[in-house]
Amino acid sequence: RRVQLKRLAEQPSVTADGQHLELAANIGSIEDLDKVLENGADGVGLFRTEFLYMGRNSFPTEEEQFQIYKHVLEKLDGKRVVIRTLDIGGDKELPYLELPKESNPFLGLRALRLCLKREDLFRTQLRALLRASVHGKLNIMFPMIAVLSELREAKRILEEERAKLEQEGVQVSGSIEVGMMIEIPAAAIGADIFAKEVDFFSIGTNDLIQYTMAADRMNESVAYLYQPYHPSILRLVNMVIRAAERAGIWAGMCGEMAGDQTAIPLLLGMGLDEFSMSAGSILPARELVGQLSKPEWAALAEEALAMSTQEEVQQFVKQRRPQ
Ligand code: PEP
Ligand code: MG
Repeated sequence: RRVQLKRLAEQPSVTADGQHLELAANIGSIEDLDKVLENGADGVGLFRTEFLYMGRNSFPTEEEQFQIYKHVLEKLDGKRVVIRTLDIGGDKELPYLELPKESNPFLGLRALRLCLKREDLFRTQLRALLRASVHGKLNIMFPMIAVLSELREAKRILEEERAKLEQEGVQVSGSIEVGMMIEIPAAAIGADIFAKEVDFFSIGTNDLIQYTMAADRMNESVAYLYQPYHPSILRLVNMVIRAAERAGIWAGMCGEMAGDQTAIPLLLGMGLDEFSMSAGSILPARELVGQLSKPEWAALAEEALAMSTQEEVQQFVKQRRPQ
C-alpha cells in the first residue's frame, strides 16, 4: 500500500469527478521541507513562523528571516507558499519577550494582537517576507483576527513597508496574496465582512474548535468537547466557505481537521479549495479524494449539517466514504 501511495506523489490532486484541489503541507521549519517534497505537496498552506523565534535568546534578524523565507520559496519552486506572521502567545512563549503574566493567555495578547502592539517585531518580519517574495509564490497570512480594524491595520503596515522597500530600490513581488486565518468564531460568523478585504481565508480549526466549544485544546479533562465534526463546527466552516465563494476568493483550511479522513469528504462537499496538513497525511488524502465525487458529497454534507451530534456525523461519513 505504501508503494501504491508513493506513486501518487507525482499525481495531481483530483476528485473522482475531475475537480482539482490543492493538498498542501503545514511546516514549522526548513527541516520539514524534504518530507513536503517527498510527499508531493501541491504547496505549503501554513508555515508557522513562530518556530523561528523559539529555542533561542533573541529575536531573529530581518536577514536571518529573509534567508529562511527565500529558501522555502525556492524549494517550492513556484508552488504556493502561505507564510503566517508570528503567532506567539497562548501556549507558545518566548523567554526573551517580556510580557505581563495573563490569567487567560489563549484569550490574551497573542499573535497579531501582539504584533500590532510590538510593531517593531512585526515590521521586521514583514520586510523579510516582502524581500523574499520575488523568489517564489508568496502568500502572507495574518493569524487570530477578530475584527476588521486588526486586518486593516496589518495591511496598512504591510503596505508601508512595501513602499519603503521600493523607495530603497528593493524589488518586491507585485502578486503577493494577503489573507487571514479564520480561527475565532467572530471571524467565522462575520466571514462575509472580511472576505471583501482579503485574497483568501485559511480556517484554523485547532483554535476555532477550542474557542467555539470553550474547551482548551490541551486540556484532557474537557477533551470530550473538542469535536471537529460537531454540526456547530461544520456550520461555521460552511459559512466561511460560502462567504469566500460569494466574494470570489479561495478558502483553505490549515487546522488538523484538513488532513482528517472523516472530515475530508465533508469539506470537499462544502467546497473547500485547499487542504493543508502534515506532510505525512497528503498521500492518503490524495488517494481518498480521488475516490470521492464532489456533487455527491455536496449533497451528503448538506445532510450532515442538519444533524444533531458529532457521533451521528461520524457514523454517517464512515458508512458512506470508500473504505
Ligand atoms: C489552528 O489554530 O488551527 C492553526 C492552524 O494554528 P495553530 O495550530 O498554530 O494555532
Ligand atoms: Mg491557531
